[in-house]
Amino acid sequence: MPDSEPDTALFDLVIVGAGPAGLTAGIYASRGRLKTLILERNMAGGQIALTDLVENYPGFPEGISGFDLSQKMKTQAEEFGAEVREIEGVTAIRQDDGGRLAVTTDRGTIRTRSVILAPGVEPRRSGIPGEAEFIGRGVSWCATCDGALYRGRTVAVIGGGDSAVEEGMFLTKFADKVYLVHRRDELRAAQIAQERCFDNSKMELVWDSVPRRIDGKDMVEALEVENVKTGEQRSLPVNGVFIYIGQDPNTVWLEGVVERDEHGYILTDELQRTSMPGVFACGDATVGPLKQIARAVGDGALAAVQAEKYVDALECAVPDAERAAGGSAAAPA
Ligand code: NDP
Repeated sequence: MPDSEPDTALFDLVIVGAGPAGLTAGIYASRGRLKTLILERNMAGGQIALTDLVENYPGFPEGISGFDLSQKMKTQAEEFGAEVREIEGVTAIRQDDGGRLAVTTDRGTIRTRSVILAPGVEPRRSGIPGEAEFIGRGVSWCATCDGALYRGRTVAVIGGGDSAVEEGMFLTKFADKVYLVHRRDELRAAQIAQERCFDNSKMELVWDSVPRRIDGKDMVEALEVENVKTGEQRSLPVNGVFIYIGQDPNTVWLEGVVERDEHGYILTDELQRTSMPGVFACGDATVGPLKQIARAVGDGALAAVQAEKYVDALECAVPDAERAAGGSAAAPA
C-alpha cells in the first residue's frame, strides 16, 4: 500500500507486534478463519530473534536459535492466511463507527473488528556517561548481533538476570574474558544458568558493583565501576560493554487508550481482555510474573480465541442488510 493511502479493507483482527505472542495469536486467529493482519514496527521475531539459543521452549531438546524459532512461527501464521507487514509501526487506536476500531500506523489507517496488542519490550538503557556516545563503538544490547566482533578481546556485561548471564556465556565463545558486573552479591538468573556461569573460567564476577562511566577515545576502552558496599572505584579494561539491566514495555503510545500499571505494562483480565472493548493483549508487555516464550504463546493463543468470540458476537449483532452488503468496508475511516 502506498504511504498515507487509506486502507479500505476491513480486517477481523489486527495484531500489533510479531514476537512469539503476536505470531501465535496470528496462527490461532487465521486458522480460525479470521481475516488477520499482523503489524510489526521492526522485523518479525521480537526479542527472541536476537537470542542465540532458546533451550527452554518445549519440543526442541537440543535448543533452537531464537531467529529460527521466530521464522518458523511467522511461516506458520502466513501458511494459515495471516498477512504479516514488517516495518509498519502502530501509533494509535481508537473506537470507530459501528463498534469497529481504527488503527493508525505510520503508513495510514486500518479498520478492524478487533485488536490484539503484543508490542513486547525493549532493553533498558543505563543512562551512565559514555553509553550513548559509544553506541555502535563498543556499547551494545545484543550479544547475538555483535558478539563475533569481540573475538580474542575483553568485554563487560552489566546485570544479573537471565539475559545478562546467558548472553555473557554466549560472549565467552568469542571473548577471552567476560566481566559480569552485578549490583548485588547474588544473581537473579535461573539456577542452571548460574551454575554454568560459575563453572566458566572466562567469566569473572564483579559483585556489588554498579557501572559509573564508559571511557575511550574512538572505541570503548574501559568501564568504570563502583563497589556499592566499600565505595571502591575500579576501571575494567574492556573493548565492549553489553547492557542487560531489564526491559521496558513498548506501550507509551497506549497512554489513555488502555489501562496500564505504574510501569507501563498493559492490564488484562484472565481472558486477555484490556479495558477497551474488542482490544486484547498478550506477551511481555502485559502485567504478569513470567516473561517467557512459553507464557507468551499461551496468552497469545488465548487472546486469539477470545478475539474470535468477540468478532462472532459482533457479526451476530450486524443488521442483515449490512452483512448482505459485505460488512461496512466502505464506511469512512
Ligand atoms: P531482569 O529484570 O530479570 O534482570 C535485570 C538485571 O539487571 C537484574 O539483575 C537487576 O539487578 C539489574 N539491574 C536493573 N537495573 C539496574 C541498574 N540501573 N544498574 C545495574 N543493574 C541493574 O531482566 P532480564 O532482561 O534479564 O530478563 C527479563 C525477563 O526475561 C525475566 O523474566 C527473565 O527471566 C526472562 N528471560 C528468560 C530467559 C530464559 O528463560 N532463557 C532468557 C532471558 C530473559 P537486581 O537483580 O539487583 O534487581
